Amino acid sequence: MLCPPEELLQKSQALSSTWQRYQAKPSFESFVELAVSINSFTEFLIDKGITALHHASHQLEQVTLALFNTEIEHPLPQAALDDLNERVLALERMANTHATATADLVERRHDPQCPTPDDLRISQTWLIGHDPAIWADLRSQLGYFGMSAAFTTWDQSLPENVGLAPLLLLDLSSLPEAEWCSRIQALRQRFAMGQLICLGMPSDFEQLQQALRGGCDRCLLDGTPSHAIVEHIMELNERHDQEAYRVLIVEDSKTASHLIRRTLEENQIVSEIVNDPRQVLNALRQFNPDLILMDMYMPNCTGVEAARVIRQHGEFLSTPIVYLSGETNVALQVDAMRLGGDHFLTKPFNPVFLNAIVRSKIERYRALRRTMYHDSLTGLLNHSSGKHTLDMLLSSVAHEGGFLSVVMMDIDHFKQVNDTYGHPVGDQVIRSLSWLLKQRLRKQDIICRYGGEEFLIGLPHTDAEQAFAIIDRIRQDFSQIRHPYRDRHFMATASGGIATYPLYQNGDSLIKAADEALYQAKRDGRNRIHNDED
Ligand code: GH3
Ligand code: MG
Ligand code: MG
Ligand code: MG
Repeated sequence: MLCPPEELLQKSQALSSTWQRYQAKPSFESFVELAVSINSFTEFLIDKGITALHHASHQLEQVTLALFNTEIEHPLPQAALDDLNERVLALERMANTHATATADLVERRHDPQCPTPDDLRISQTWLIGHDPAIWADLRSQLGYFGMSAAFTTWDQSLPENVGLAPLLLLDLSSLPEAEWCSRIQALRQRFAMGQLICLGMPSDFEQLQQALRGGCDRCLLDGTPSHAIVEHIMELNERHDQEAYRVLIVEDSKTASHLIRRTLEENQIVSEIVNDPRQVLNALRQFNPDLILMDMYMPNCTGVEAARVIRQHGEFLSTPIVYLSGETNVALQVDAMRLGGDHFLTKPFNPVFLNAIVRSKIERYRALRRTMYHDSLTGLLNHSSGKHTLDMLLSSVAHEGGFLSVVMMDIDHFKQVNDTYGHPVGDQVIRSLSWLLKQRLRKQDIICRYGGEEFLIGLPHTDAEQAFAIIDRIRQDFSQIRHPYRDRHFMATASGGIATYPLYQNGDSLIKAADEALYQAKRDGRNRIHNDED
């Protein structure tokens, strides 16, 4: 995803102004403000995937936080001031360069000849190494998922038109170790938003440290099979699609709640405020937060009481609750935690710390939810959450008007795949169809692993004919994939059936009709899609 250049500039200027304010009036308060601003900029860069700037900003953050911990007087000693000044200016220069480059790209995007934003997400893939033959298998595997990797050697330079956010796969093995870090750094500087993955890395502490220090996103160790490399690449692409974090603030003081909200906003965290704790259940249902920040003392109700009320509801049992309070009484904090709280922050809170706690709690909560609603082999929605999501989608399509096509897809003669090549290879075939679906379908589409090697797909605002065109293309591409087995390859096929709303009115009847169409496709000879309406 591309970050609008104005937004980047605005963020970078906000940081420079807090630094100027600190220099004009050095105090602990203005230093806190500076730290918050640096932290917010760093989080912003992570969110937008602007890796090169993120490294610089993160280092600046570390330096600043280290100064927090010591009993340092303000203004800071001259050496520290000079160091900070140099880092802030360097970061500002990098942000300007980056914004200018992005502005060019945004402009070119309006040109119909240029790729759409979705294409930009995966944009160009290059493999830099010394011998293309080593990576032939990887390159053909990537090809199946719509990512063709062009090859170039370290002696050649990448062409001008590589774009801003290429995926670069690096084989460093032919380069002297002393050059690794600087080579990666040079690529990092040129492609701030690119993804750099080192392939075939030795499992050696210092060598890995060099590559990571240079700014690569990931090192894949020597011996990682091609399909696992493809998987890592798909994961990197998915990471950028996360929804903003959501926090519900339950706090009677309007001033305090707005202060918290502002801190969260600076970190791209969306929040909603409830000043009367008795409204908390409504707010939870409407806002559906990832975390609750709970004031300890409120009129009518304490934070602990409110937490207990919340925990009586199954759907909010695992929503993390972090208490905010001036209370330093340890016994009371222990009680609060025992009664369903996850963490305690004392007021006045350190904004950097607040942000770090909120983020890490939400990450864990989201990971937990992923395991509850998603299938562990493919990462797709599992059976029950797929059905539930389909029902929700159906009611919104029914409300707006339009079509919704449901597809059941099943791998052909899969028992034979398992019997011939073994269960783990079978798993890999299931995974490859799931990747293909993820790669080809839109964000608003439902993709669910309905059963063993059976997939349920929901395509909103898509009629039966359009659904056929999309799914049949995926079927054809799946049948081209060469699945590795020892030193050979084998191929697999899949069949599908389609049924469409409004001809079928509810989730169950859509699934049943799509399933019947699937069996028709199987009877007709497999490796085909059958449309219920035909
Ligand atoms: P058809 O073309 O009619 O679909 O034939 P099929 O052999 O694919 O028949 P069916 O769909 O009934 O077979 C599904 C097989 O998938 C049976 C089961 O052993 C296997 N299976 C189910 N879940 C998994 C899984 O998670 N991993 C692997 N490797 N195999 C699985
Ligand atoms: Mg209060
Ligand atoms: Mg099957
Ligand atoms: Mg089946």
